[in-house]
Amino acid sequence: MRLFACTNCTNTVHFDNSGCLSCGLKLGYRPKEFAMSALQARGDAWEDPSNPGGVLRLCQNGEQGACNWLIEDGHDGPFCIACRYNITIPDLSDPTNADNWRKIEVAKRHLFYSLLRFNLRMIGRVEDPNEGLGFRFLADDPLAGNASPILTGHDDGLITLNIAEASDAERESRRVSLGEPLRTLIGHFRHEIGHYYWNLLVRDDGDLDRCRAVFGDERRDYDEALQQYYHQGPSPEWDKTFISAYASCHPWEDFAETWAHYFHIVDALETAHAFGLRTHPDTTTEGLSLNVTFDSYEAVNADVLIGAWVPLTLAVNSINRSMGQGDLYPFVLSVPVVEKLQYVHELIHGARRHTSPVP
Ligand SMILES: [Zn+2]
Ligand SMILES: [Zn+2]
Ligand SMILES: [Zn+2]
Repeated sequence: MRLFACTNCTNTVHFDNSGCLSCGLKLGYRPKEFAMSALQARGDAWEDPSNPGGVLRLCQNGEQGACNWLIEDGHDGPFCIACRYNITIPDLSDPTNADNWRKIEVAKRHLFYSLLRFNLRMIGRVEDPNEGLGFRFLADDPLAGNASPILTGHDDGLITLNIAEASDAERESRRVSLGEPLRTLIGHFRHEIGHYYWNLLVRDDGDLDRCRAVFGDERRDYDEALQQYYHQGPSPEWDKTFISAYASCHPWEDFAETWAHYFHIVDALETAHAFGLRTHPDTTTEGLSLNVTFDSYEAVNADVLIGAWVPLTLAVNSINRSMGQGDLYPFVLSVPVVEKLQYVHELIHGARRHTSPVP
């Protein structure tokens, strides 16, 4: 993630900020320009003081404190490009629901930032009612008890998230009971959108053979594979070829897990780049140095990303341990995993609607 500047006072501001702490003006993010605007009220709309005369509209979800994005020029609807894909949001009269939903929207905007940086196509439910992209953020029915919990997942373009995942206590308890090293909202989004893009870029764009050569044959019975995984656990040597234990349960999950890690790596490297992070070669046992001098969204291949990523994780994992925290990135990237990341890299870069670097 980049750092941004307030257009009124040039103070550094962050992606999630809705106001500038230095000059006090409201902020709105311009999703297509990857930039932040300071905002002054102008009638019932907004104006950027550095660009007087322009009319800016904030996403309607901003009224609930759930969005800081501006609606792109030329779009008439009340929602920004990230919120337009919402199909269902929880009952906001319940303050816990509203709180959870706001956290979920933060993670979703982070996902959309990357999708827009890659300029991947997104087809909504209006254009494609059967398989278009849409989000449902649902709460368990308290009257139903545990009988029919809302399951997080992807189904023909529809991504469902149980909003309880936004509660730290809930998510941590699920992480422990499922034996996952990392469970985050942003991770859910990056994983589930991976299933959506498998449909779009692998199945529909005719890349099944190449994908099967890397991830295995996804025609293997999915429900059976999942049952087997949950009852018998992963194969003992899963870590030699898979990024996570869950990835080993079925080629679809392997793809989605790899896709999510590709997004983790690209985003975190962009953040390291924005802050100018460097490490000295001798500070790591592997003798690797971190020097992110490139735009991770424009990396030529996965090797370039991994070459910078490994020393970054060594450094940041060590800092986390100094603070008594678990590793930031508790995963090992084996050679087969890097090959899978390279496949995802090629898939994404082949599908980009333009390749010119963004401003
Ligand atoms: Zn400012
Ligand atoms: Zn919005
Ligand atoms: Zn999945």
